[in-house]
Amino acid sequence: MRGYVQVYTGNGKGKTTAALGLALRAAGAGLKVFIGQFIKRGEYSEIKALKRFADLIQVEQFGMGRFLEGQPSAEDIEAAQKGVARIHEIMAEDRYQVIILDEANVAVKSGLIPVQELLALIVAKPYHVEMIITGRYASTRIMEAADLVTEMKVIKHYYHEGIEARVGIEK
Ligand code: ATP
Ligand code: MG
Repeated sequence: MRGYVQVYTGNGKGKTTAALGLALRAAGAGLKVFIGQFIKRGEYSEIKALKRFADLIQVEQFGMGRFLEGQPSAEDIEAAQKGVARIHEIMAEDRYQVIILDEANVAVKSGLIPVQELLALIVAKPYHVEMIITGRYASTRIMEAADLVTEMKVIKHYYHEGIEARVGIEK
């Protein structure tokens, strides 16, 4: 089965949860899933839940868990760079049929990884692997290289009413 490159972007809710939904579906079909999370660090509820699927879904984090404002630190960049190298390694291992790069678009937008490096991951994707790239601000070049692009468009979001991310719903 041929694998494609999917991008979930836009400023509306649902990018990461769509990718997690796909991971669940893939695991149900016996496919092995690798989830690499950029930017993020910490026990998001999905990480706790996915421990129950440890034989099928593996999660690793390549972020420092800070929200990026202005110039990223050397530590932020190093963590993201390690992530890119790790994804190349994972693809070379050829154990996973689905690879999710959560918030990779944000890592590019914030200057943690050059767009060429994300493009290189797409190019290096084995034929049978499905790759999902999430995060707002997807670069035009990434969207051009993808086979499927979905934009989550915000119509209304309680975030604008001051409701921060809630455990179990957003994190
Ligand atoms: P989900 O993980 O619920 O599927 P998502 O992946 O589509 O959401 P992200 O862009 O990753 O959403 O945003 C993660 C969190 O950032 C949101 O849940 C929200 O709490 C917060 N956030 C920060 N800025 C905004 C904004 N301008 N609009 C909406 N949410 C925002
Ligand atoms: Mg997200």
